[in-house]
Amino acid sequence: MQETIKLSHPGEQARQDLAKIEKEAGTSVNLCYQCGKCTAGCPAAFAMDYPPRQVIRLLQLNLLDEALDAGSIWVCASCETCSARCPRGVDIASLMDTLRREALQQGRLSDKKVAAFNKAFLGSVKSFGKVYEAGLMLQYNLSTGQFFKDMGLGLPMLKRGKLGMLPEKIKAREDMPKIFERAKKMGGDE
Ligand code: SF4
Ligand code: SF4
Repeated sequence: MQETIKLSHPGEQARQDLAKIEKEAGTSVNLCYQCGKCTAGCPAAFAMDYPPRQVIRLLQLNLLDEALDAGSIWVCASCETCSARCPRGVDIASLMDTLRREALQQGRLSDKKVAAFNKAFLGSVKSFGKVYEAGLMLQYNLSTGQFFKDMGLGLPMLKRGKLGMLPEKIKAREDMPKIFERAKKMGGDE
């Protein structure tokens, strides 16, 4: 069962914090009239503690801490279906992304496995320009101490050619570190 949230009048700081999130995300939560279309189309809503509509509601109520601690922001797959469907033009996907970055910057990630996955995923994209699944699985499992996890799954997938032994090469792979550097200057974590 979810914990009860106590509502209180938002202070000036809370208002400023929310304004910063909205500015970075390039959208406004007050446009939302809670129709729920974003949640209805979200492929990951079933796994979220607060589906997209409720994440927006938390922000409308100035409950930024609850939104930053929500598992939803890490479950979000950035598919942008919600933003495309919103009749009010709320860029929910961008908000989710901004909340993720803010949570990382504030060191709020209590689930170490999610942090390890995030790091391994971004490291893979930075090095190879796209995800190298076998390397990602290996790094994630090593960094979380799950040394033999996925062994039973990985070997048959390798045999059937569903998993590459070596990373695929993309064009202009050498540009990736520069892209990450630019993202960092813009406030990104990597
Ligand atoms: S689709 Fe847009 S207006 Fe509807 S609940 Fe989601 S954010 Fe709000
Ligand atoms: S971007 Fe995230 S919140 Fe929006 S529909 Fe996709 S998974 Fe759901």
